[in-house]
Amino acid sequence: MRGRRRKGKIAVMGGITGLLLTVIAMGFFPDSGEGRNTGESTGAYVESQDIRDGKEELEVHFLDVGQGDCTLIRCGDEAMLIDAGDNEQGTKIQSYLQNHGVDDLKYVVCTHPDEDHIGGIDVILYKFDCDTILMTEEEKDTDTYRDVVNTMADKGYQRTLPVTGQQYSLGDAIFTIVGPASTGSDSNNNSISLVLEHGENRFLFTGDAEEEEEEDILGSGISLDVDIYKAGHHGSRTSSSENLLAAASPLYAVISCGEGNSYGHPHAETLNHFRSMGVKVYRTDEQGSIVVTSDGSALSWNCSPSESWQAGEPTVSAASPETVPEPESEAEATGTADYVCNTNTMKFHLPDCSSVAQMEEENKLPTNAAKEELMNQGYAPCNKCNP
Ligand SMILES: [Zn+2]
Ligand SMILES: [Zn+2]
Repeated sequence: MRGRRRKGKIAVMGGITGLLLTVIAMGFFPDSGEGRNTGESTGAYVESQDIRDGKEELEVHFLDVGQGDCTLIRCGDEAMLIDAGDNEQGTKIQSYLQNHGVDDLKYVVCTHPDEDHIGGIDVILYKFDCDTILMTEEEKDTDTYRDVVNTMADKGYQRTLPVTGQQYSLGDAIFTIVGPASTGSDSNNNSISLVLEHGENRFLFTGDAEEEEEEDILGSGISLDVDIYKAGHHGSRTSSSENLLAAASPLYAVISCGEGNSYGHPHAETLNHFRSMGVKVYRTDEQGSIVVTSDGSALSWNCSPSESWQAGEPTVSAASPETVPEPESEAEATGTADYVCNTNTMKFHLPDCSSVAQMEEENKLPTNAAKEELMNQGYAPCNKCNP
C-alpha cells in the first residue's frame, strides 16, 4: 500500500530483505532464547525467507471489545492475539476465534497488565493451545492479573519477555518488538509495542504507550514508517504524540474504544492530528469489529473509514461531544495554501516553487499550517524556495 514510496525498490529489496532476515535468524540474537526470556526458548524466530513473496494473505481483526483492546492477526494457518479486552470479553473473544476457525495461537501478546487488555486472557489461555506468550515482567496486585498467572501455571505456560529488536514470524508476515525499552511503575508506558510487516504493508501497535514510551520507541532505531497505526491508548491525547505520528506517517489509524466511555476516548486532540495529516480513521465504537486484509501490497477493509470526527464525551463534562473541525488546509487548492508539503520527500515548499510543479499529485499536501508545526511533523524546508 506504500507503493507510492516503495515501488521500484521492491525487486532489489526482496533479495536484501531475505538476506538480512537470514543474518538476523542466524546470529543477531544468539542468546535471547535463554538469557532474556524466562520461559521456554521459542524457536519462533524468523527463518530464512523472502517476505516480499507474501503469498499468504494477512488478516488483522480489530475486535469490538468495548473499552479495551483485542486484535487477532492471521497469516496462512498461523494466528496471534494481542490483548483480550476486559474480564467480560473472554468468552466472546473465544467464540469469535472459534467462528473464524482458529484453534491455536502461535503468539499471545499481553501488552500490559491493565484490566481492559488482559481481562479475557485467562479464558483464551484455557481454551486455546498457545505457543509463545509475550508479557513484560510487570506484576499487578489485581485479581485479573492473578487469574492470568494462575492460568499460565495451570497450563504450564511460561512468559517470554519482549526484547526490542527481536523478530518473530507469523506465516509470511514478521513482527518486530519496538518497545518497551524498560519497565517502570507506569503500566501504560510498559506496553509491548511492535511493528508487523507483510510484504509492503506495515502496522504499528503500541498498546497504551504514552508519549514517554513513544520517545523510547522512536529511539529504538527501528523504522516506524507504517501504513496502519493502531492508535495508542484508545485515542487518548496522552498518546499519538506529534513525534510518533511524524515518524509513523500512517495512511490509516484504528481506534479501539467503547461507545460513551468515561475517559472521553478518542480525544479531540488526537482526532485533530489525524485529520490534519489526512489519516483515515476507523473506530470500533462506531463501526464494531474492523477487519483489514493484506495481500502483501493492497489492503482491503470490511467497512469504510469513519467520517464522524466525533470526540468521545467524558462523563464529567455536560457539554456536547466535540466534533473536530475540518482542517482549512485540506480543502484548499494548492494556489491558496501557504505551503505545499511533499509527503514522499518530507520537504515543504512555497506554492510557486518549481518543485511543486514537478511533484506527483499523490505526494502533494497543501497546508496553511505554521512553518514550525510542519517542522515538528518532520518536514524540512526546501533549499530552493526557502519557505
Ligand atoms: Zn487500555
Ligand atoms: Zn492501560
